[in-house]
Amino acid sequence: MQLEEIQKLDQKYYMNTYGSRTPVAFTHGEGMRLYGTDGKEYIDFLAGIAVNALGYHHPKLTEAICEQAGKLIHCSSLYHMENQAKLAKALVERSCADKVFFSNSGAEANEGAFKLARKYFYLKGEEKYEVISTVNSFHGRTLASIAATGQEKYQKPFAPMPEGFIQVPYNNLDAIEAAVTDKTCAVFIEVIQCEGGIVIGTDAYIQGLRALCDRHGILLIIDEVQTGMGRTGTWFGYEHYGIEPDIFTCAKALGGGVPLGALLARGNAANAFEPGNHASTFGGNPLACAAGLSVIEAFEEEGIVENARDTGQYLLEQAQALGEKYGFVTDVRGRGLMVGVQLDPALPGTNVVSAMFERGYLINCAGQNTLRLAPPLIASPADVDGLMKVLADVFGGF
Ligand SMILES: *Cc1c(COP(=O)(O)O)cnc(C)c1O
Repeated sequence: MQLEEIQKLDQKYYMNTYGSRTPVAFTHGEGMRLYGTDGKEYIDFLAGIAVNALGYHHPKLTEAICEQAGKLIHCSSLYHMENQAKLAKALVERSCADKVFFSNSGAEANEGAFKLARKYFYLKGEEKYEVISTVNSFHGRTLASIAATGQEKYQKPFAPMPEGFIQVPYNNLDAIEAAVTDKTCAVFIEVIQCEGGIVIGTDAYIQGLRALCDRHGILLIIDEVQTGMGRTGTWFGYEHYGIEPDIFTCAKALGGGVPLGALLARGNAANAFEPGNHASTFGGNPLACAAGLSVIEAFEEEGIVENARDTGQYLLEQAQALGEKYGFVTDVRGRGLMVGVQLDPALPGTNVVSAMFERGYLINCAGQNTLRLAPPLIASPADVDGLMKVLADVFGGF
């Protein structure tokens, strides 16, 4: 099918939640590259929004999915599943978690985290249910996830919000401290506000939150849906701070593009759910977990996390050097292969995104007019050089 036909069907039959989409429909990909219905090649510096960590058509991931599809796709959690048990073990061995529960998405993993935090205090006989999160955060689109997402545009049309969620400014320890009440069960944060414009939590903030939660006897929950699975140059983003959350969530890159999310917890929080408390029809099925297992294997065989760190550092340095040449670049920041280039409000980032698209590069614009560079974690320094050349050309035209 050609793009125009797809667009017609989309317009007629698909709910209009995405507005005017970028005018391309991809048919397939290879490594860092995607191909449109017209055969045009695009170099991907967005990775399906931090999902496709291994790029496209990765042999190991493709083979694992095909092989599992030929054996058993789904069977229900009424029964034991080898891949589910193995992937839970693999994640526990690579993180601070003691136990795992699988979902299909980031928002669902976050729902699980809110339930787990409330259940933890329910077991202790304490009425604590309030979750403190931050302004300009993003935690997904279910009702509880938007209640925790500190952006009015996501909440307003869907009022009333579920009870027990409050937001305070990010990177402000005093604001969290002031918001804690005897009803607070958890502080819920991203170590980098990704959709919020690649705003990095300071060491003092994240470490301070750990101490604050310990002092008040409440849980620290970290939303690692985007920062997890190697994106920032460590398996999980919290590692950069030398602290451990009580609960964290993960999704985007976990299944290499196959829908898969995880709720992870350590200590007593890991044992707070009891039979009947939580479940998911699809969550952690044999197919999704086969994908997850092959992602972890490929990460380790190919040094993907180290590459995210080193190539990410190179990307950051190159973007900073480029940014210095243009007055409209107001800040460049990042960690691993997650780099934000903030632009002056006079130059809408969406204009740069369109110009890059015309030149065959996929990037997007996140909060506060910030270009987001989040390529597959297989990106090489040569890929970065290619991007910088085209970005310089585009910047030169504004
Ligand atoms: C994408 C994202 C989510 C939502 O994940 P879905 O899979 O779309 O539900 C939640 N939190 C963060 C930090 C994200 O980046």
